[in-house]
Amino acid sequence: MKFDVIIVGSGFAGSTLARKFALDNKKVLIYEKRGQIGGNMYDKVLDNSILVHQYGPHIFHTNSKKVMDFVTQFGSWYFYEHKVVGKINNTLVPIPFNFKSLELLYSKEQADIIKEKLLAKYKDTKKVSILDLINDSDETIKQFGLFVYKNVFENYTAKQWNIPIEEIDTSVINRVPVILGYDDRYFQDEYQYMPKHGYTKVFEEMLNHPNITIKLNTNALEDIEIKDNKIYWQNQEFHGKVFYTGAIDELFNYKYGPLPYRSLDLVFENYDMNYYQSSAVVNYPNDEKYTRITEFKYLSNQLVNNKTTILKEYPKKYDYQDENSIPYYAIINEENQNMYQKYYELVKKIPNLYMCGRLAEYKYFNMDAVILRALELYEKVGK
Ligand SMILES: Cc1cc2nc3c(=O)[nH]c(=O)nc-3n(C[C@H](O)[C@H](O)[C@H](O)COP(=O)(O)OP(=O)(O)OC[C@H]3O[C@@H](n4cnc5c(N)ncnc54)[C@H](O)[C@@H]3O)c2cc1C
Repeated sequence: MKFDVIIVGSGFAGSTLARKFALDNKKVLIYEKRGQIGGNMYDKVLDNSILVHQYGPHIFHTNSKKVMDFVTQFGSWYFYEHKVVGKINNTLVPIPFNFKSLELLYSKEQADIIKEKLLAKYKDTKKVSILDLINDSDETIKQFGLFVYKNVFENYTAKQWNIPIEEIDTSVINRVPVILGYDDRYFQDEYQYMPKHGYTKVFEEMLNHPNITIKLNTNALEDIEIKDNKIYWQNQEFHGKVFYTGAIDELFNYKYGPLPYRSLDLVFENYDMNYYQSSAVVNYPNDEKYTRITEFKYLSNQLVNNKTTILKEYPKKYDYQDENSIPYYAIINEENQNMYQKYYELVKKIPNLYMCGRLAEYKYFNMDAVILRALELYEKVGK
């Protein structure tokens, strides 16, 4: 069969592109090396009837109407605002740290002083970066910032990334702000919804189109070769477009070395009880080896009697030579970005090759950002 477009990977990057090209009457071939579609959003129902996210909890949130309009074409979605607490000094407090967290960890008198100062200083904003707080000229605010930094960020970050917090890119630290008020939602985005029947069903609907062919359990690099800045598919030069959403270093056979990632050991546990914990997610920044525990029933809004499933996440090193090791988080620093850029220079020489998604672009993208990038890439090069 002749294809117009080849897409490597069936996460949100690949599936969004596939859908758009299919609607434009292009014949699309998707390669997926795993046994199922959906990338890291893949979810499934366990024997105990609980819907779990196989590659870690995925909560959908966005400020983009365009993205929301796109995803809600596929199945029903329900309103869901995510809540997280963290175990700090043996007390469960809202994360991101807010005024309620402050009141739970400080005396009433101290909490009142800090709240008053924060509101006076940052009166035009509802959230503030921890880095701004620790650099504040007011000693009370600075000390409060240092307290949050130490108890909420420092050890969590060290566990997650296995490097001191000073070496972490500030964009990572700024992802979780301090909230100046009582808003205890983990995200403040305008649209916060979850797919009613899970992400896998969304992907099934997205890819259910006569113009889309999916090859599961197949590494695309078995069929695709790059030679003299040209793409060969099954030994013939391919003149259509190729969208690659896998790891860029793998595409070029690690020519400049492997791009570093952090990985996770994901440990699922089933219990015969209604609920294991009081929130969807409990973060453990300090003493435990895992960083957080997710209880899936909260995310899926399921009413299952006397059964529940939780997930503990243990950060670990990623090993590109071990096929069971999964690259989860790109380790963003200057050196690694320079290595990425060297790989990207190779891509630029191939006119019909495009990179899209978290692995191909070596960035931390939320799902909505990836969908938006795929939609915009299609608008730019699709026609
Ligand atoms: C633990 C964790 C939790 C997260 N939680 C959230 C969250 O709550 N909310 C949120 O918005 N975002 C979250 N994210 C981010 C989210 O996972 C990404 O935005 C999303 O996965 C990006 O989609 P993608 O298509 O770029 O990549 P992926 O989902 O990784 O899809 C890439 C696909 O390509 C396939 N592939 C790669 N190479 C090849 C090859 N050579 N041949 C064939 N197939 C190949 C892979 O098997 C994979 O299926 C989380 C990320 C992690 C790591």
